[in-house]
Amino acid sequence: MNTESQPVVLIADPLPAETVAGLGPGFDVRHCVGADREELLAAVPAADALIIRSATRVDREVLAAAPRLRIVARAGVGLDNVDVAAAAEAGVAVANAPESNITSVAELTVGLIIAALRRIPAADASVRAGAWQRSAFTGSELAGKTAGILGFGRIGRLVARRLAAFDMRIECHDPYVTAEAAAEHGARSVPLDELMRGADVLTVHLPRTPETVGIVGEAELRLAKPTLLLVNTARGGIVDETALAAALKEQRIGGAALDVFGIEPPLGSPLVGLDNVLTTPHIGAGTREAQLRAGQDAVRAVRDALLG
Ligand code: NAD
Repeated sequence: MNTESQPVVLIADPLPAETVAGLGPGFDVRHCVGADREELLAAVPAADALIIRSATRVDREVLAAAPRLRIVARAGVGLDNVDVAAAAEAGVAVANAPESNITSVAELTVGLIIAALRRIPAADASVRAGAWQRSAFTGSELAGKTAGILGFGRIGRLVARRLAAFDMRIECHDPYVTAEAAAEHGARSVPLDELMRGADVLTVHLPRTPETVGIVGEAELRLAKPTLLLVNTARGGIVDETALAAALKEQRIGGAALDVFGIEPPLGSPLVGLDNVLTTPHIGAGTREAQLRAGQDAVRAVRDALLG
């Protein structure tokens, strides 16, 4: 087929073949996956669209080398590897896939809550070690308890719906969401101090901004119930890690489940290895479905940009 007049879509990071096929006919699809910088700079001059994941950095140099480029689509949530301001100056659209992994994060959050409250990792470790200590792992139920959701955006709402299905009472704190909107999603909107006092499970779903760093600190943790389970699958640093480690060591709260840390990997963090802390290595978005969806969203953005 003569592809000379077809727009060139350059794929610079790995995408499943079926996702690329979603572009449909009419595009000249080229790959430079795993390419070094020189190869990328040699390939971009022909590109009308560029699809990337995390590995490829799109900066001023790449944009300057790509006069035909109309869109950079990132098959992922953040845009840390794209110079968005430079793209705007160059008239290049930038797209990402902000909703691709929200279900995955919400499901991990619920999984961590149940794993922590029923002490599943410790129980599994004891059986593997040859023990059979049925009374050593008494846990607690979710039903009838209060979930405090800090940040009632996309993921916070999905978590609320899932925890409501476990018969939890749902409270939330989010100054940018009205009490009516919270109520529509089954949550009672409360001030932060009330959220901290009332929660049996507090789960954090905030962006990391200057306003939210350390928003749960020493003073907030002192309001919590001694049985509180604190969960953070959002971003490290939103919960003050020093204050949290102290509260956990002094057993002023019941436990924590953490997928994210201020510094990753959290080498030497006082939070890692405590008996009442469950940790995962930032796997919130790590599902096949989320990756597939991110690719599909990027492909859709490219089609929309090039086909108009
Ligand atoms: P979102 O933007 O949809 O929701 C965030 C909510 O926080 C918004 O409703 C906003 O009004 C609220 N908010 C902002 N400042 C606030 C404040 N000071 N107090 C209370 N609420 C405030 O974001 P989302 O898609 O739901 O993502 C939530 C978090 O999850 C983000 O930090 C994101 O980076 C993180 N995340 C983590 C993983 C992972 O792998 N663990 C994957 C995806 C997203």
